[in-house]
Amino acid sequence: MRVVLTGFRGTGKTLVGKRLSHLLDIPFIDTDSRIEEAAGMTIHEMMMTHGEAYFRRREREVISSLEPGDAVISTGGGAILDPENVKDLRQGSIVFLLEADEKTIEDRIAYTTRPPLTKLALRDEIHALLAAREPLYIASADICISTTGKQVNEVCLGIQRILSEGTADQSSRDRVAEFIRGTGISSPEIPETIDRLVGDSFDPYTRFYGIAGNPCTHSRSPPLFNALFDLYRMNAFYTRFQWPDIDEILSHARTLGMKGLSVTIPFKEQILPLIDCVDAHAEKIGAVNTVVFCGRRTHGFNTDWLGIRGPLVGHRNAQAAVLGAGGAAAAAVYALLDLEMDITVLNRTVERGRLLAERFGCHSAPLEAFASLSPEVVINATPVGMAPDRRSPVPEEQLKPGMTVFDLVYTPSETPLLRAAAAAGCTTIPGTEMFIRQACAQFRHFTGILVPEEQVRRLLV
Ligand code: NAP
Repeated sequence: MRVVLTGFRGTGKTLVGKRLSHLLDIPFIDTDSRIEEAAGMTIHEMMMTHGEAYFRRREREVISSLEPGDAVISTGGGAILDPENVKDLRQGSIVFLLEADEKTIEDRIAYTTRPPLTKLALRDEIHALLAAREPLYIASADICISTTGKQVNEVCLGIQRILSEGTADQSSRDRVAEFIRGTGISSPEIPETIDRLVGDSFDPYTRFYGIAGNPCTHSRSPPLFNALFDLYRMNAFYTRFQWPDIDEILSHARTLGMKGLSVTIPFKEQILPLIDCVDAHAEKIGAVNTVVFCGRRTHGFNTDWLGIRGPLVGHRNAQAAVLGAGGAAAAAVYALLDLEMDITVLNRTVERGRLLAERFGCHSAPLEAFASLSPEVVINATPVGMAPDRRSPVPEEQLKPGMTVFDLVYTPSETPLLRAAAAAGCTTIPGTEMFIRQACAQFRHFTGILVPEEQVRRLLV
């Protein structure tokens, strides 16, 4: 059993770690103590003499050389800032994030000797660092535990219970298994999910993730994320929830104590008011495609826009046409505005296109206006090209050499639009490029691990 404790200073990692190692009868490792022993000086002296970057390098060395095997490992407050540390700490372990409110943290660390990490007063430093680090703390943990107002023993008993029973008791797992059976879809993940919930493969350490959509049987996310969990030696499983009611899916995800949900059609906009903390990008786009759970709290993000921005960074200030006005089009407009492009939204339902364009301060026109625009960048954010509508969303003869055509549709990988664009001498970008990049960003929100794009590309072949 390998238990990792993360969290800000003053959340109780060392005290809880020592007591827990005693209760579980396994060794206790404190990475800060290891750094001090190796350097022959305290962390305070190290920071004052060599600065924070030097300390982070020593911390990286200690974490990368931790011996394998049973242990309770307590980490420094900033250890999870380095995704390489997260990758190492997550291998074969279960990671608990210990949290506390700002006042409790301040009371607990006011008289300690650790050096300040900013020039701010202690209270402001705690507030600023927690705000900056919170998404990474949550991402890199399997389970979040509040230590505010709790004795060390109480926290340890809570952790021990989760280690022996998991995050959901038998009757809760039965209810979720019943719900999943009732969705009636046939995909390989369904029988495996049931077996892991209530069958022979039940393991209290397994963390569950999934995709919520209606439909979502076509999604490539389950095999991709399960392959990534194997690759990073994480005890986690990603399933599918195809159901018409997102409220119900969320409720079952909570019952199970899930870690993350990908969100797809038709829920990306609907789910927004159901999420406790929506990040600024998702709020502006008006859609959430990634939900991360931390205890009862939900955090919402949008990674679609990053998937569209990435392949187009070389096209700053271009004239762009976005076809469509749904959730993917909103993410596209947001991404292109970030690259300072001049954007026209072209949509079948003109009024809907006008509303999207107005929201972001760009132009709009009917789809037929494409011929008169001759844009440098074209984004297809409609489902046209995907079965059963296997056409190009614009007349093929209107595609001109010099255009860069990005089709967000990724099944099939070569769409009629991309085929026609290549024949016309355009640069083409397939929808898999968006999928790969948004998946990398989503995996980081889900796990804290930075997966290289090339790795995902290889797994998708
Ligand atoms: P959505 O919210 O349903 O919006 C679809 C848009 O396409 C609407 O503006 C709709 O126009 C338009 N449209 C639908 N059928 C059309 C047709 N026959 N002719 C012309 N326009 C049509 O869907 P979404 O969530 O934005 O997703 C759009 C597409 O993006 C999906 O089909 C998917 O292939 C792709 N996508 C790809 C990725 C990726 O990772 N590569 C991620 C997300 C989405 P009206 O307003 O007139 O109805």
